Amino acid sequence: MTNAMMNTQLTITSLMKHAERVNGGVEIVSVTADNPRHRCTYREAFSRARQLANALVRLGLKTGDTIATFAWNDYRHLEIYYGVSCSGMICHTINPRLFPEQIEYIVNHGRDQWIFVDLTIVPLLEKLQHTMPDVKGFVVLTDAAHMPETSLRNAHCYDELLAAESDEFNWPELDENTPSALCYTSGTTGNPKGVMYTHRSTLLHCYASIAPDVFGLSIKDVALPIVPMFHVNGWGMVYSAPMTGAKLVMPGPKMGDGETLCQLINEEKVTVSAGVPTVWLALLNYLEKTGKTVESLNRLTVGGAACPYTIFDDFRRKHGVDVQQGWGMTEMNPLGTFNGNVAPAVAELPPEQYDKMRLKQGRPVFGVEMKIVDAENNELPWDGESAGAVKVRGPWIIAEYYRYDGQTLDADGWFETGDVASIDEYGYMKITDRVKDVIKSGGEWISSIELENCAVNHPKVAEAAVVGMPHPTWSERPLLLVILQDGESLSREEMLAWFDDKVAKWWIPEDCLFVESLPHTATGKLSKKDIRETYKDYQWP
Ligand code: ADP
Repeated sequence: MTNAMMNTQLTITSLMKHAERVNGGVEIVSVTADNPRHRCTYREAFSRARQLANALVRLGLKTGDTIATFAWNDYRHLEIYYGVSCSGMICHTINPRLFPEQIEYIVNHGRDQWIFVDLTIVPLLEKLQHTMPDVKGFVVLTDAAHMPETSLRNAHCYDELLAAESDEFNWPELDENTPSALCYTSGTTGNPKGVMYTHRSTLLHCYASIAPDVFGLSIKDVALPIVPMFHVNGWGMVYSAPMTGAKLVMPGPKMGDGETLCQLINEEKVTVSAGVPTVWLALLNYLEKTGKTVESLNRLTVGGAACPYTIFDDFRRKHGVDVQQGWGMTEMNPLGTFNGNVAPAVAELPPEQYDKMRLKQGRPVFGVEMKIVDAENNELPWDGESAGAVKVRGPWIIAEYYRYDGQTLDADGWFETGDVASIDEYGYMKITDRVKDVIKSGGEWISSIELENCAVNHPKVAEAAVVGMPHPTWSERPLLLVILQDGESLSREEMLAWFDDKVAKWWIPEDCLFVESLPHTATGKLSKKDIRETYKDYQWP
């Protein structure tokens, strides 16, 4: 007997219809440029998504067209997510902080037809619009009262566009493999590459993300996604909150502002949140300065970069908040591993070992198959020691970059993440480096990240970077670059002596340079490519 069960399609439309009917009265609270505290319900937002769908038709858009957003986390952006994808079109979220050349490349490569832009980002696009000749028009995300004078061509006001439309719309029956959203990697090497999500990959990722040992999202939660919706769909919370009936609180352009975050958490009784480490440092600094607390918050997720110990420990000790960690990437929608609820065997470990386990990137979530391999593609054991390149496969992992000629997967159909990690007997993965940043010294690998972490633990060091530089005997050796704290001084010898007894002798950097600044990418990560380029003529002492 085949097809004994119904083959209904896993679409975002089915999620939207469920959320509207079952969780329709649940609130969405947003900070926007035109309203410090906007409130609506899922029912109202999805009703406006139908008005938007009618407006898209009126603008001449059709199935398969790509519509770009330059927007923060708020209810209008949520309406666009659903209105566009459920119309069979593609919602292309773009990070406004990218370099102008990257934005130009992404808009044109993505074949964006229209751009929906936040009020605060209008000036940027006024400057860049001439680099986007194929974009037919712009929709400014605001109401009539706040609609600015703008030189954007064919500009519309979002709220007025919707107001002119009926809130009845027959959503098309979509195949679950229909593309739904497009997101480009930040492109630390070469041009950015496009990752096209489908309705199916989004839904499966959403189911996995709400599981108790992952975000554990439920109807009892009030969720504050701080990670931007232009960054891998805000780690999916714009889907998972409506799916479960969790109330959504969205910080709009204020996502790096400790005061606004603290207010939102306390006034809206936020229980769970997610963001990159810098956001949490901003909130911790604000709490420290003001003596305020975040009573309702019981857990938060750090992702996008490793979680520093201070974030984990300060939230735990001072605020009773459990800091959890997620690892993933644009190509993985983004979820790969999660360090959330503690495995019983880990809970029994002595405190120091326990903390070490909690700072690992976590265990693969079901749906992500994972292995670590050496330079010859031999699989390495999960012993917590062997470090190798991380490869993954699964239904929400990229199969092919959008409009790309190169190879996306290896010969066996695995996606190479570009990360280097070890995995222990409990299944906890620990990222030790990026494949292109790991230092290959005498046939062995040295983790640049561990050396950087060790250096920044020095009380006089503000920031540190370690890159592998060519070496006549060892092929590569680590070069340490250090920015000192204001007003501090330190000698090269004192700095290098700091590593004694903290790392293996042959890991100790070969040399150390004190610098004024270090280059970063648009997403705030150290740009090792630029560092290597700057120091390409460097000679060992
Ligand atoms: P995102 O920054 O949202 O994770 P990107 O695709 O821009 O998405 O970057 C992915 C890379 O970020 C990963 O390959 C990994 O190197 C790094 N990364 C993501 N999460 C973590 C984490 N929890 N710990 C360490 N590195 C991480």
